Amino acid sequence: MDFIIGRDANTSQLRISTADGKRTQLVGQPGCVPMNVSRKHLQLTVNADRTCVARNLNPANETWVNGMAVMTRNISWGDRVEMGAGRFPLDWTAIEPLLPKTIDITPLKRVWSQYKQREMAIRKRQQNINVLAGVPMVFTVGGGVVTNFLPDDFKSYGVVITIFALVLMCYGLYRRFTDKSFEEQEELKQWLQQHYTCPECGHFMNFQDYDVLSQNKACPYCRTQYKK
Ligand SMILES: [Zn+2]
Repeated sequence: MDFIIGRDANTSQLRISTADGKRTQLVGQPGCVPMNVSRKHLQLTVNADRTCVARNLNPANETWVNGMAVMTRNISWGDRVEMGAGRFPLDWTAIEPLLPKTIDITPLKRVWSQYKQREMAIRKRQQNINVLAGVPMVFTVGGGVVTNFLPDDFKSYGVVITIFALVLMCYGLYRRFTDKSFEEQEELKQWLQQHYTCPECGHFMNFQDYDVLSQNKACPYCRTQYKK
């Protein structure tokens, strides 16, 4: 990210602007910056890893890095940078608020895996209940039919099995009617909507797998960059 740094024409404060001019910061008391600091004195490029490049924009007024006059120089964040014959110092902390913010979304990984685990548990239980109601239903109906064709000596076994299957089926149906899976799923979705959110803007990240989400560079809603 590029910054243009110099003396503000109106207030003679230090003026730090993003190169696109969208954000500006005035630093210090009015009149604190001497006239030998140009209005566009220094271009500072700050890379994502905080390495920087300093470029003096006006050869008539020097830029100093760690005591040496420079035109263009790779520098480190926090190096002593001074402008003009009066050696007006650059305040690095004033640049900090203008840098693009990054957010750490790794805590969302745990939220997503919790959601998937709980969702899976609900689904499994639903499947079990369906089996409990469905399989004995087949036995009940089938048992009734088969019993009819059994020799008389074996009919009583058929009846016992059919009754047993009928009881199981009724239990399965009872479980199905009293099952709260649907409500639990709705609750779980709401829980995700509250917790699977952008740490910066709070927008719900949608039912998007964390692995997919983390491939994005920035929040799709507020554009804040993800910390890598
Ligand atoms: Zn956001």
